[in-house]
Amino acid sequence: MTSVAPHKKAKALKPGRLRPAKELCSECGLCDTYYIHYVKEACAFLNQQIAELEKEAHGRSRDLDNEDDLYFGVSQEMMAARKKQPIEGAQWTGIVSTIACEMLNQGLVEGVVCVQNTKEDRFQPMPIIATTPEEVLAAKVNKPTLSPNLSVLEQIEQSGMKRLLVIGVGCQIQALRTVEKKLGLEKLYVLGTPCVDNVSREGLQKFLETTSKSPDTVVHYEFMQDFRIHFKHEDGSIEKVPFFGLKTNKLKDVFAPSCMSCFDYVNSLADLVVGYMGAPFGWQWIVVRNDTGKQMLELVKDQIDTQPVTSKGDRKQAVQQSIPAYDKGVTLPMWAAKAMGVVIDKIGPKGLEYARFSLDSHFTRNYLYVKRNHPEKLEAHVPEYAKKIVEQYKLPE
Ligand code: FAD
Ligand code: SF4
Repeated sequence: MTSVAPHKKAKALKPGRLRPAKELCSECGLCDTYYIHYVKEACAFLNQQIAELEKEAHGRSRDLDNEDDLYFGVSQEMMAARKKQPIEGAQWTGIVSTIACEMLNQGLVEGVVCVQNTKEDRFQPMPIIATTPEEVLAAKVNKPTLSPNLSVLEQIEQSGMKRLLVIGVGCQIQALRTVEKKLGLEKLYVLGTPCVDNVSREGLQKFLETTSKSPDTVVHYEFMQDFRIHFKHEDGSIEKVPFFGLKTNKLKDVFAPSCMSCFDYVNSLADLVVGYMGAPFGWQWIVVRNDTGKQMLELVKDQIDTQPVTSKGDRKQAVQQSIPAYDKGVTLPMWAAKAMGVVIDKIGPKGLEYARFSLDSHFTRNYLYVKRNHPEKLEAHVPEYAKKIVEQYKLPE
């Protein structure tokens, strides 16, 4: 007779809102389930263990002397890609949704963990286990808020599913990888997106109201490679706001503390990562981390155009200058921000160098945040690769 998995006894530990990571909690959803039993080991903010989990998931951890590994994690292959026929209303061209639909259609998986929105609010996340392509497509587009994707973990065990795809961001995937073997699955596929600067639902409202001219009609936004935020509105119009014109003094507290202390922007533990930041404008950036990721990408190869990744420019000076500017909450007048945006777009970093610009800027900012707010966590919480990246820059005290 098999004994009850120890976490099932943890129901008593589940009085609702227990969050051992306290203010650093990213609401990944694990603690909404009896898998809270494993929280000390699994939580990305209590136990940073990316190198160990990389070994388990990909067979090796990053080689810190290899620049691609250092920045983008373990990979077999990187490329730029876009769907020949983009999915209307997807965040980019819909490669994530297409892979998930194909995996269901071709019987590789019985379910897909993804996140739809509630009927009342397009930005309020509602995690589900989709079992049809229609349900997957209803989860397209980013919900740019902290999303408890792992809150459906108990349903997986109860449903008896044996083959599952999980779509998620880094903190969710780190917790998932830790409890992976307890889920009773025969095969888990992990499709990750990069993630940075996420917010609570209230934080999102403040961000939209501070930054967009028409916060109530925004359906979708992205921090783009042209150094501007593109807000897409209900009528299809696009509003562009330069990064350098952001009211950083007002926005400093908007980003969730979890995201201010995260160093897994590139989703190190997914089998396959689909983002945009290392690709030319309009294209998506794909990182195949292992054979499982390769198998997933193969399913859609005939539906996408691809091209090799490229890299141009030198990010270092721009990163160094942005550190004190962000720290002091400097806001440029809009005309100056627009002018700077145009110049940087013309001569600034492109392709993988843009991705490194974004990683450097966020890691230096987050390193300072952890050092000032959680100094006791700094040494163990910041992964070795992030320390090496941050060491390239001069930081204020
Ligand atoms: P779609 O086909 O539209 O599918 C989107 C998928 O994302 C859906 O399956 C849905 O389940 C899932 N999803 C939506 N919201 C969430 C959420 N809150 N948590 C977990 N899963 C979610 N890429 C970069 O290169 N650089 C970035 O800085 C960056 N920041 C991001 C920040 C957030 C909060 C998110 C969710 C994603 C971010 N991405 C980033 C990824 C990028 O914006 C696209 O999601 C990715 O390229 C996939 O596009 P798509 O058209 O293929 O996705
Ligand atoms: Fe629990 Fe996830 Fe929050 Fe950590 S981040 S405390 S695992 S809900």
